[in-house]
Amino acid sequence: MKALLLTDIQIGFCPGGNLPVPEGDQVVSVANALIDGGQYDLIVASQDWHPPGHGSFASSHPGKQPFEMGELSGMPQMLWPDHCVQNTSDAELHPELKSEEVHFIQRKGENRRVDSYSAFRDNDKAHSTGLADFLQERGVTELDICGLATDYCVKFSALDALDMVPGIKVRFIEDASRGITPEGVSAAIDEMRARGIEIIDSRKVLKG
Ligand SMILES: [Zn+2]
Repeated sequence: MKALLLTDIQIGFCPGGNLPVPEGDQVVSVANALIDGGQYDLIVASQDWHPPGHGSFASSHPGKQPFEMGELSGMPQMLWPDHCVQNTSDAELHPELKSEEVHFIQRKGENRRVDSYSAFRDNDKAHSTGLADFLQERGVTELDICGLATDYCVKFSALDALDMVPGIKVRFIEDASRGITPEGVSAAIDEMRARGIEIIDSRKVLKG
């Protein structure tokens, strides 16, 4: 059973959104080609879904600016602009993404006191979203991951998939992903590769 995880392909992470990833919108057509390619039995999308005043927002920390380090529930926390607030357009999946083909949407980041880069669990690893069980129950043995942003939510999701779904094989689709900084992307790719995640591009998937 082969699954595709489309990570946080949301308006908020694309140019014009509240936390834009450079060229973030360019993953949409690649993601759609992967969806149309017919290689996947199951397609899952994750959605950053924060309540107003979430603890990862710089605006929740008096005197702090976005992209400064702060602290959240005793853990170091990168402070972000307010983004992907529940029931705002910023939190919607990109309108051109073929979301009607997505079988399941995994929301994350709903707890104000902890951030959740990974689609599988919160950053403190104390609370799971249930996605690992969901994939395991459906017999998923191969998971391809792409989306936004490579150096945060994509990387953390890929590593957690390995840690939380026994026996799963994970691949990262580079051209269907974008990151916040080039250094961050390169470090994330090194880290994923070191853990045995194969780095591929969409042509490899579509060739079958
Ligand atoms: Zn977030």
